[in-house]
Amino acid sequence: MNRRIVILGSGVAGTLAANRLRRHYDESEFGIVVVDKVDDHLCRPALVSVPFGLAEPSRIVRPASRQLADGIGFRKAEADRVDLDTDTVHFTDGSSYHYDVLVLATGAAPTPGPSAAGVLPFHDLPSAVALRDALRRFDGGRLVVDIAGTAAGTPVEPLEFCFLADWYFRRRKIRDRVELACVTPLNGAGSRPEASRALGQLLEEKWIRMTPRFTTSVIDGENGRLLTDEGHEIAFDLAVVFPQLRGAPWMVRSPGLADGRGFVTVDRHTLQCKAKPNVFALGDAAGLPVPRSTSAVSSQAGTLVHNIRRFLADEPLDASYDGHAACRVETGFGRALLLDSTYDTEARPGHESRLAHAGARAAQRLYWSAVLPGREPTGLGRWSRRLI
Ligand SMILES: Cc1cc2nc3c(=O)[nH]c(=O)nc-3n(C[C@H](O)[C@H](O)[C@H](O)COP(=O)(O)OP(=O)(O)OC[C@H]3O[C@@H](n4cnc5c(N)ncnc54)[C@H](O)[C@@H]3O)c2cc1C
Repeated sequence: MNRRIVILGSGVAGTLAANRLRRHYDESEFGIVVVDKVDDHLCRPALVSVPFGLAEPSRIVRPASRQLADGIGFRKAEADRVDLDTDTVHFTDGSSYHYDVLVLATGAAPTPGPSAAGVLPFHDLPSAVALRDALRRFDGGRLVVDIAGTAAGTPVEPLEFCFLADWYFRRRKIRDRVELACVTPLNGAGSRPEASRALGQLLEEKWIRMTPRFTTSVIDGENGRLLTDEGHEIAFDLAVVFPQLRGAPWMVRSPGLADGRGFVTVDRHTLQCKAKPNVFALGDAAGLPVPRSTSAVSSQAGTLVHNIRRFLADEPLDASYDGHAACRVETGFGRALLLDSTYDTEARPGHESRLAHAGARAAQRLYWSAVLPGREPTGLGRWSRRLI
């Protein structure tokens, strides 16, 4: 029987890992199979555009199986648990796969939040569509963006949401009737001083009120209030909640694999699982202290594939992933800025510019044709890839 590399998850992490691995191994050497519970691939960098009518939902989803290079198998099944002792993945339909190498790329899942009138979570495509409809109906009042979880690094998506909301209401000519506010458990707009200062200033310029050190403990939808344990509260007419994330729920059924929050415990430089050498993880599933972004996944995929090859060749692994993540933040009015960070360097926001926005648009167009196939970018392509 062929040796087999099993990749769980067909998001950007699983797809990139599979496509890059296929280049190094032909089918006679290794069978590569990607398993996902759904056959839909969502272009997540375009998700924030949906609530503001800037992206059509049907245009940002494509079949996951069609994003895989020839010779890679795709199976639709839901992982139930991994048995590290026998190198076996068990699926909820009762079937199982033996693997020689396992790649975990099942992403992160939102913790369930309260559902109440006037409170909308933002995490996936259905919630983005619900939010689009709610924003269309919203014609005045206070909109509060709640960054529920203290994300690693700067919580870029909620801030981007605020900036685009400012643009959206101005375009609708009702900005003077909408009060925009953002609450965060962090000390400021970012987790590090420099990013915090620059992004905080931008929020101020756009008349978006930021309340730091505000950890929502109760959402009182009936009375339109967010409450903290310390007795602080903020009223809202519409609350947009970016939920706290945990690892995929099935991880907890696989002893030794993940930490208490369900994120796979990996060496942060080699991406090898601490519990078993033939298991690797990348993307949102991995317990790494980096901002979650497509560009971070892209950097991790290079290290992961290189180290799987070294592992299979019985060579020592390279500790080459330095925590690099680049996040672009759309700031509205055809402008964007870029934040770059590593484990050792603080995220420093670049200047807001039209060029960054144009680069981000170009990068999104390259998502299906160049990012997912895992082509090595050069020159301008390399720069714009960081902007996705
Ligand atoms: C609202 C929002 C906006 C974002 N905006 C941006 C942005 O503008 N730019 C950017 O760079 N990043 C953005 N991100 C972050 C980025 O989307 C993630 O870092 C990236 O998608 C992670 O990819 P992944 O493959 O690790 O996980 P995912 O894309 O979540 O893929 C995980 C896959 O695993 C599958 N899966 C889960 N459990 C199982 C199971 N038990 N069995 C089988 N399959 C399973 C899922 O179906 C899914 O297909 C955003 C994230 C969110 C939530």
